[in-house]
Order: sequence, then structure tokens, then C-alpha cells
Amino acid sequence: MKMDKILPFTKNLLKKAVKSGEIVVDATVGNGHDTLFLAELVGESGRVFGFDVQEQAISATKERLSQYGYLERVTIFHTGHEQLEKMIPSEYHGKITGAVFNLGYLPNSDKSIFTRPESTISAVEQMISVLAPEGIIVLVIYHGFPEGAVERDALLSYCQQIDQKTAHVLKYQYINQQNNPPFIIAIEKI
Ligand code: SAM
Repeated sequence: MKMDKILPFTKNLLKKAVKSGEIVVDATVGNGHDTLFLAELVGESGRVFGFDVQEQAISATKERLSQYGYLERVTIFHTGHEQLEKMIPSEYHGKITGAVFNLGYLPNSDKSIFTRPESTISAVEQMISVLAPEGIIVLVIYHGFPEGAVERDALLSYCQQIDQKTAHVLKYQYINQQNNPPFIIAIEKI
């Protein structure tokens, strides 16, 4: 298959937006796969700010980062991403060049803990405000379970009404696949 699947498409967008030494956010660290990718992207002189509400996710992420020697360049907050503006030091506001929100629940874990529309939208709003011009936010939306479908609808309505003078907003989705695979909304600040 020549066309990018969802994960490579996400990574390519972030690679376009983020250079070594820059500041990025993983809004849902989970098992740390995206955190690791971002930590590699920003290099030794960059910084990743991560968020998760589950201790289990944070430990798994720290374990993964330590295997690669990247712990030093990552700060993880054990709190919801809706606290983003408050938790990320103000000196970095306006300088963040990339962010990823990998939504839904942690695979092989407590399925009652998942991202929710109100807090996700609040976090995305805050993220847009702390982003640098041409910074990119990638939302990976899992809508194959009932609450995920509710979050999808809320995010689509929110993202569709973002002023086109504020950001370019893209949807990238395979539309003929079974079982509602994840799709992407990407937001590039103007
Ligand atoms: N990016 C992860 C990875 O690479 O393994 C996968 C993330 S998983 C699909 C979603 C994560 O969002 C879960 O770990 C869950 O605990 C977390 N989460 C749920 N509500 C949250 C919130 N309000 N703020 C931050 N994280 C949240």
C-alpha cells in the first residue's frame, strides 16, 4: 500500500512541524510510544511535556524512556491534559511546535478510563493558544466504542468551527474500512 496509514501520517506531520531542540507535548502518554517518538524528534536539547491520568501509564512510559536514555528530556505530569496551560511553564507558551493527542483508552488496561469530550476540547483549545505559529497538533481519534463515537462527534463539531484565520484544520480518514479504525484531525496554527 502506497498511501500512508494513520500512524505514519501522524509521524510525518510531526516531523514536518518539529525540529531538534524544540518543545512538544504528548497529551496522552499511555504506554509511551508517542512520547518516545517525540523525545527522539526533539533530541537532547529539546523537551517533551507529557500528561496522563493513570499512574500505570506514567510508569510504563518512564520505563520505556529510560531504556533509550531519554528520561532527562521528558517531563510527565500525572494530571489531565485539561491542566495543560497551567502545568507547562509560561516561558514555553507560544514556542511549542508539535503535540499529539492519542485518544480513547489505554490498550490492555482499565477500559473505564478514557478521554472525554469536554476535557479533550478544553485541552485542544489551550494547546492552540500555547502553540507556535506553524505548530501542529495531531488528534488520533478512536471511535470504535460508544464513548469514542461521542468524543468524535464533539471534536468534529468543535474543530470544524475553528476560525480559518486561526488554524488550518485537516481530517485524514480511510472511509471504506470495517470496525471504525482511528482517523486523524490535524490543526496547524497560523
Ligand atoms: N499515546 C499512547 C501510547 O503511545 O501508548 C496511547 C494513549 S491511550 C490511547 C489514551 C491515554 O489517555 C490513556 O493512557 C488514558 O489514561 C489517558 N487519558 C485519559 N484521560 C486523560 C486526560 N484527561 N488527560 C490526559 N490523559 C488522559
